[in-house]
Amino acid sequence: MTDSAPRSRLRGDSGTPAQSPVLRQYLEAKGEHPDAILLFRLGDFYETFQEDAEVAAGLLGITLTSRDFGRAGRHPMAGFPAHAAEGYIARLLAGGQRVAICDQMEDAAGATGHNPPEQSPRGPRLVRREVVRVLTPGTLVEAQLLEPGRENPLLAIARAGEVFGLAAVEVSTGRLELSEVPARPGALEEILNRLAPSELLVADEEDGETATPEGWSVARLEPWRFEAERGRRRALEALRVRSLRGFDCDDLGPALGALGAALDYLQRNRVSLPPEVIRLRRSRPGGAMHLDAATVANLELVQGLGGTGRGLLGLLDRTRTPMGARCLRAWLLAPLLEVAAIDRRAGAVAELVERPELREGLEGCLRRVRDLERLTTRTAQGHAAPRDLGAIRESLPALDDLRAALAGASAHALVAARERVEPEAELQALLAGALEDSPPAAAADGGAIRAGFDPRLDALRGGIQEAQAWIAGLEARERAATGVRGLKVGFNRVFGYYIEVGNANRLPLPEHYQRKQTLAGAERYITPELKERESVVLNGEQAILAREREVLADLARAVAARAPTLLRGAEAVGELDALAALAAVAVERGWVRAEVDGGYGLAIRGGRHPLVEAALPAGTFVPNDTLLDAGTRLMLLTGPNMAGKSTYLRQVGLLVLMAQVGSFIPADAARIGVADRIFTRVGAQDAIAQGLSTFMVEMVETANILNHAGPRSLVVIDEIGRGTSTYDGMSIAQAVLEHLHDAPGLRPQESGFVGAPGGCRTLFATHFHELTALSRRLPGLANHRVEVSEAGGGVTFLHRIVTGGADRSYGIHVAEIAGLPAALTARAREILAGLERARPLAEPTAAAAEAQLALPIEVEHPVVRELAGLDIETMSPLEALNRLARLKALGAEPARG
Ligand code: ATP
Repeated sequence: MTDSAPRSRLRGDSGTPAQSPVLRQYLEAKGEHPDAILLFRLGDFYETFQEDAEVAAGLLGITLTSRDFGRAGRHPMAGFPAHAAEGYIARLLAGGQRVAICDQMEDAAGATGHNPPEQSPRGPRLVRREVVRVLTPGTLVEAQLLEPGRENPLLAIARAGEVFGLAAVEVSTGRLELSEVPARPGALEEILNRLAPSELLVADEEDGETATPEGWSVARLEPWRFEAERGRRRALEALRVRSLRGFDCDDLGPALGALGAALDYLQRNRVSLPPEVIRLRRSRPGGAMHLDAATVANLELVQGLGGTGRGLLGLLDRTRTPMGARCLRAWLLAPLLEVAAIDRRAGAVAELVERPELREGLEGCLRRVRDLERLTTRTAQGHAAPRDLGAIRESLPALDDLRAALAGASAHALVAARERVEPEAELQALLAGALEDSPPAAAADGGAIRAGFDPRLDALRGGIQEAQAWIAGLEARERAATGVRGLKVGFNRVFGYYIEVGNANRLPLPEHYQRKQTLAGAERYITPELKERESVVLNGEQAILAREREVLADLARAVAARAPTLLRGAEAVGELDALAALAAVAVERGWVRAEVDGGYGLAIRGGRHPLVEAALPAGTFVPNDTLLDAGTRLMLLTGPNMAGKSTYLRQVGLLVLMAQVGSFIPADAARIGVADRIFTRVGAQDAIAQGLSTFMVEMVETANILNHAGPRSLVVIDEIGRGTSTYDGMSIAQAVLEHLHDAPGLRPQESGFVGAPGGCRTLFATHFHELTALSRRLPGLANHRVEVSEAGGGVTFLHRIVTGGADRSYGIHVAEIAGLPAALTARAREILAGLERARPLAEPTAAAAEAQLALPIEVEHPVVRELAGLDIETMSPLEALNRLARLKALGAEPARG
């Protein structure tokens, strides 16, 4: 479901007198949550009705039946056993549905099976039911429904004039991130790419000021809920503070409106976000690089091309905790822009690379930390299972060890993270003393609390044991006391414990024996003492469970009280884990630390593409250099198909991005001037599905680059102009290159670069060899090609980038390798030879290419100037002829800029 504006799945009107009470109750609950599938608890089952039943039956593959509501008639129904609900709910959510759970709020004693208690023989009694939880994609806290290594944010968007206010809410960890961005075209897409929210929350407006992007799960609330001042009040309440100044959020407007709406939505969905788990932050623009969807996909940051594997993230992810996995993923999608911040991260990675003992010590501790962030949050929200508390208990000693393991660290980021991890001796002792070694998954299973921890629990348990032992010995004792040899002690569900005496041995029985039941050959008795023990045994189990729940709730409160500290520590653990992962992969693959500075240069020696290298046999990947500096800012790369142009281009984009993430990079050495954006135009596979032609996609992506690139950007363009006629394509490619070289807005403004030729750093691959001639006219452009060896008649791709332009494309050779019939490729060679003789395209020599391709930008020929100055009105014919002769002579001169 991409759009779930409230819509009704109700059939018939609610509240007609013909309705049965249960149906009325159902319709009431459903009316509150019309956009969700309502799971209605009837005894041991969750049932769905009417249209919901049809949807659920389809998605879950369960039988669609119907149920008789008396005078209200039959209604479609589909259900599943409550004990198996988890799996069914997960499938409904995966099917894009919201799910509202309507539970029985009181005990329906004796009600089992499909028969609801309301129809039990004991007479009609309507059990109270309430919606206890609404599950939507962005408001999940259930561990089994969440992916450990990914955040699952809900993003609320409020628009006020030209500003988007954003509130990203991660209910499973309590993180709230507010930001405000100008509402320019494309801004929303960038944010969605970076945050990848599981659900969007927008105002339900007729005119839809917040145009909702396609392909996202969207929930809507009334517009007034997005109002800024109201949001501020909601935020103060939620945090239980008097000012937002301490959160750097005081001056926000629309973002607070978005937060207010998000808090309302959580409340409506019955998700609690207690103040002790909330970590409210503001994200200011400029902290992280915005990546567009094309670049995230082209560089395979979190997913391989064609949707396979996890791309670069898969290669880097050596994390050992879910917090670390989430942190690394977030870092990868938000490369840093400040040199100092990059240095801090890379410095920490460097120390962990250089000091294996430090890294191994840290890794050993990380391995023992569970998802402390989500466990703590869930506990504070009141959803913790005994097993969750057990997982917290197991993680706490590792925090102490982790502090010890990092005692000798000196990198700033390591020291700072270590400081945030606080020892939790008291909580640890409490949980260790209270919980059994392997606590059960659910409190209802019992046996979570150790003997000796809670005197009341011990007394209850002791009482049961005593009573059971007393009952077990009763038969022998009574036989001895009464002399009745056939006396038996038994139990049945209706009468409970009894003493049975067969009719054959009727001796006088003690007075305190009370007759309870007469059977054909025996009488059954009870005694007051037996009754007492019976009640201890039968009620004791319930009392024990109830007491265990109380003790567990106390433990949960103790965890919640420490939540702010625990969460701060858990976040630091995530960062340490991500740093250790980057260090581990750097060591294993022999990567180096890039020197990142505030300049505009780019110098990489021996760079490799991390993913292509990893896929090839060791040692076969050919490293390449990259040098863009004040003299050369644009690199034009030509070379045959299959030679490795795309690989090289992506490699440069990736290495710059990895360096700004703080990672080491696959190269011998590198110095990189921080890029504010990395633009990539490579291939067009994904967008074709959206109904755009290959050429249109090329042009849209190119337009995006030209409109948004600045002097600090890195632009990577792999072939444009392929999808149209040769002349069109070549003209556009040339014009784009000229723009990137000449546009004043792309020129660096820094000493050493001011006045230097060329615009922003650009790598441009093309199969139009003719464009190499441009380097004569564009001084900031340098030609490079991928080297090919033609030794021995065959063609070998060396994958080596060298200076100079290519003059052949070897396309026919590639066609041969691909298996086109030999006769066909021979014919192609003939045709090519003919075409080359006829030379319909420009000569691949510089002069001719320039004559043909140079567009009259900034170039005014003297003839033009002279012509413009002529006044024909006042000229005699002879004068005109003389001027014509002069113009002819001028026409032979070259153009001057
Ligand atoms: P086309 O123009 O047809 O798109 P291309 O020149 O962009 O081709 P790539 O797709 O980059 O070529 O590379 C083709 C193959 O060559 C890659 O799949 C890879 O296996 C191999 N290759 C590329 N670069 C290198 C390298 N530096 N070292 C070793 N092998 C490489």
